[in-house]
Amino acid sequence: MTTSEQHLVWAISVCRAAQMRLTLVRRAILQFLSSRRVPVMLEMISQADGVQGHCDVTTVYRTLRLFKDADIVRLVGTSRKESHFCLNVPGENNHFLICRECGRTVLLRLATATVSKIAAAAAAREFSPVKQDCEVHGVCNDCQQTRQCEPLPSKLAVARRGT
Ligand SMILES: [Zn+2]
Repeated sequence: MTTSEQHLVWAISVCRAAQMRLTLVRRAILQFLSSRRVPVMLEMISQADGVQGHCDVTTVYRTLRLFKDADIVRLVGTSRKESHFCLNVPGENNHFLICRECGRTVLLRLATATVSKIAAAAAAREFSPVKQDCEVHGVCNDCQQTRQCEPLPSKLAVARRGT
């Protein structure tokens, strides 16, 4: 499954199988998420075509929680207390690098051998079948650069005393 349209077809079929009412807003949320490859924030989803002006942020959030309970949507955590959401398409690469400072999220492609080793390790602990969703938290290059440009707190104190 690779195209946005296939992702949308999958999400709608899961909704139908769960006998979930598929309103125009719910369909618009799924359409927006199906066009994304990395998790997106609630605010972005609320501003999507067919969503903005049709319901409030609370309704969007409740809808996403409903989708999450049905395993259609995955919630990806960041250290900034912002919720990020993506479609939980089976068989897809669901591994992400997440910046703990700015919340930036990028796809993390793992080698087939790595994925196999994780599956084998899980099987050795009698976990099966295994769906792998890796979240690796770190600091992105932009935030590292910003850190290097900022003066150390001790140097700030010296500079203030000098004025
Ligand atoms: Zn960052």
